[in-house]
Amino acid sequence: MSATLSPAIAGELSIRSLHKEFGGVAAIKDLDLDIRAGEFLCLLGPSGCGKTTLLRMIAGFEEPTAGVIELGSTDLTKMPAHKRPVNTVFQAYALFPHMMVAENVAYGLKQSRTPKKEIGQRVDEALTMVRMREFADRSPGQLSGGQQQRVALARALVNRPKVLLLDEPMSALDRKLREEMQVELKLLQKRLGITFIFVTHDQEEALAMSDRIVVMYDGCIQQIGSAEEVYTRPANSFVAGFIGKQNFVEAVVVSDDGGALRLRSVNNTTILPEPNAAGDPGATGRPVPSVGDTVRVAIRPETLRLRVADGVPSAPNAVRGRIAGVSFLGDVVQYVLLIGEDTEILSRVPRSDAVPLPTDEDVLIEWDGADVAVYCDEG
Ligand code: ATP
Repeated sequence: MSATLSPAIAGELSIRSLHKEFGGVAAIKDLDLDIRAGEFLCLLGPSGCGKTTLLRMIAGFEEPTAGVIELGSTDLTKMPAHKRPVNTVFQAYALFPHMMVAENVAYGLKQSRTPKKEIGQRVDEALTMVRMREFADRSPGQLSGGQQQRVALARALVNRPKVLLLDEPMSALDRKLREEMQVELKLLQKRLGITFIFVTHDQEEALAMSDRIVVMYDGCIQQIGSAEEVYTRPANSFVAGFIGKQNFVEAVVVSDDGGALRLRSVNNTTILPEPNAAGDPGATGRPVPSVGDTVRVAIRPETLRLRVADGVPSAPNAVRGRIAGVSFLGDVVQYVLLIGEDTEILSRVPRSDAVPLPTDEDVLIEWDGADVAVYCDEG
């Protein structure tokens, strides 16, 4: 749909056919994306997939090769960065070391010649938002990483942007502080009602904070959905492998009874994915494999059940394997399972459900057809 045909929704960011090339190489490929007003959206993908380039085009630091970016009915595409109602928090907070916290936050307002009294009020308001009011007279060097991060946030919020862009803002923080900041940032965003677009390559961070996640790869959007949607119903094998822990095994399609596939996999295992369940390729709009095709089967580690083997499995969706390793990960116990000579898969069991299993004899690995996803894409 062209940008001029779609009704403009106040505060909604609408990106149409956005394309960016560097020296003839496309970093963003003909991308369409609607970002709702007041949502927390994460751009997630591996290094080099184009997240930062997309963010920089929204900020106005990078000019698109083609395409349109609109905020409500305002065309931002050619608008200079400093005129856009958009602000950015960068990976390196880039606070001025010789200025006090309050001066750092006030800097942009002074540049735009905001009256002195108003500057004082707005700096106060922004520092209060990030719980840093009492640090107004400190210099950045006297602050911890997390506190510097909050000041950078206050500086970006002080001129009340409609959209806040955050480019891996927590990457310098240690894990614990990062997790605390994730909760804080999400609460702040909900309180302010500002649209947050957050770039990360850390899927746990994206799952923890987002209203919706945009999973990117190679300059293209692979899937847009809530954390639960991209985890439980991945659109393709890239998303299935990128989000969360995943087991992939190869299998051949033996029969197809009106969409109910019968698959043969390692050690002659029969896999019966449930028709129209998460794994049914027809139901998700994914390409449907034909009889004789080799496919990739995805089964999440937490959906496998383990018990002591009491014979060769006669039912489908079961296989004998051997425990090659056990790791205690706190709330879960992780097993590395060996099927046949060289097929390794992972199983994860909540610590409270874990029962002692033999490491010197075979175990039976079972799963439900509804937990199987079948992909015939390239992966
Ligand atoms: P990371 O997580 O590593 O920051 P990213 O997903 O943000 O990666 P981008 O930085 O947007 O990826 O880069 C996307 C592609 O565009 C990469 O192949 C990168 O090399 C290329 N690229 C980005 N900026 C430039 C530039 N200024 N000149 C040339 N190529 C660039």
